[in-house]
Amino acid sequence: MSSVGSLGGLSLGSTGSNDERSTVDVSDENDNWDLLSSASYTSLSEIQEAISAVRKSIIETDVNTDQRKAIVHKLIKLKIKEQDLENRKFFQSPGEVETLRHSLVPINQAFPSRRYCDECGSVVWPLLQTIYECKTCTHILHAQCLNRLSRKCVGAWLHPLEEEEDITIYDGQLSYTICPEVSLIEQGYECAECCSRFFATGGHRLCDYVGKWYCQSCHWGYTSPIPARVLNNWDFTSKQVCQATYQYLNLMRKKAVIDLEKISPSLCIISAELSSICRQRRSVLEMKQYLMVCRVAAGLKLLRMLEERQHFVETEFMYSFQDLLDVNSGVLSSWLGNILETWQDHILGCILCRAKGFVCELCTEKDELLFPFSPGTETCAECAAVFHRECYRNCETCPRCERIKERSKLKSEEGKQ
Ligand SMILES: [Zn+2]
Ligand SMILES: [Zn+2]
Ligand SMILES: [Zn+2]
Ligand SMILES: [Zn+2]
Ligand SMILES: [Zn+2]
Ligand SMILES: [Zn+2]
Repeated sequence: MSSVGSLGGLSLGSTGSNDERSTVDVSDENDNWDLLSSASYTSLSEIQEAISAVRKSIIETDVNTDQRKAIVHKLIKLKIKEQDLENRKFFQSPGEVETLRHSLVPINQAFPSRRYCDECGSVVWPLLQTIYECKTCTHILHAQCLNRLSRKCVGAWLHPLEEEEDITIYDGQLSYTICPEVSLIEQGYECAECCSRFFATGGHRLCDYVGKWYCQSCHWGYTSPIPARVLNNWDFTSKQVCQATYQYLNLMRKKAVIDLEKISPSLCIISAELSSICRQRRSVLEMKQYLMVCRVAAGLKLLRMLEERQHFVETEFMYSFQDLLDVNSGVLSSWLGNILETWQDHILGCILCRAKGFVCELCTEKDELLFPFSPGTETCAECAAVFHRECYRNCETCPRCERIKERSKLKSEEGKQ
């Protein structure tokens, strides 16, 4: 917030702390306000112009009035925005162009397969032509097509502006409503993206993710499985999607944004594959408790084996869309199975980990070491002791919990004496 200091000696009156300043909502009564909304500025020169315009209008207002305060707030926001844009320059690649929230970088190597300009639809030749690709959403275009670029980056939510912005369906979450289809009449017979008119001869296409109709420039007939269909019906059929959705689903594919327990808790009942993955993920968390505190395991970097799916180590129910695709294809189960096998081999063979194993207190099999992830066991939810499932279900209370209760009772009685 260092920019807040450089306001040219203006009096802020009693406007409160820095935090308050950045969240104060300015009600727009002044005619200039539309021009001053900082969300609309994307280049440094634009924002600097706006700053000098606001400075001028400050002089025209009276000290200690609400109007003065509101303009000062506006100025603070613009200064923050200016600093953000200046900082961002350090992270830009050479030749990078920022427009419509895209970060377009020049491409100077050939693509493994043929690709087409998202604007004019013809082939791009990176070695022969100047070609730009967005680092965020992979939108690709010829240099000469830059001036016709009209699609806002579907990854704009990754770098939110501090002011309100048009909320689109591409907001960093996935839609779980199955194709909320809008009729052509409702849509006014025009493309949902570029607003070009549809012709009676047809050619318009439906995007199964958004549920709206698109022209052939905005919808190339590409297909993808749809998150809503997967999560509601475990249906992985590929459906046609518009180009923006295609880019967005690719961008979102590996992000762990699906909270399965919240969105579709009963999905495990429909899918045996998923239900077995749920069991494997529980084992991940149970084994993690051992690996986290074992220095041998740390040396072997065993937990790092799940690095590419870090959310598996941190949560039980968060999934990425790619996870669900891999559950369906069977890839995930064997990948996870291999890792769990390595982890289990370690725990069962490691002196440090074995020292934290359990012996069933309810039966006579005292040489069998049990772990929460051992098959046929049950873990006490209170004290985390592990027993044979049979033994545990046949007994009324957990002996370990009883002992703990007994001990604390004794202690409190001692305390009273
Ligand atoms: Zn082009
Ligand atoms: Zn982009
Ligand atoms: Zn269109
Ligand atoms: Zn160990
Ligand atoms: Zn037992
Ligand atoms: Zn217990």
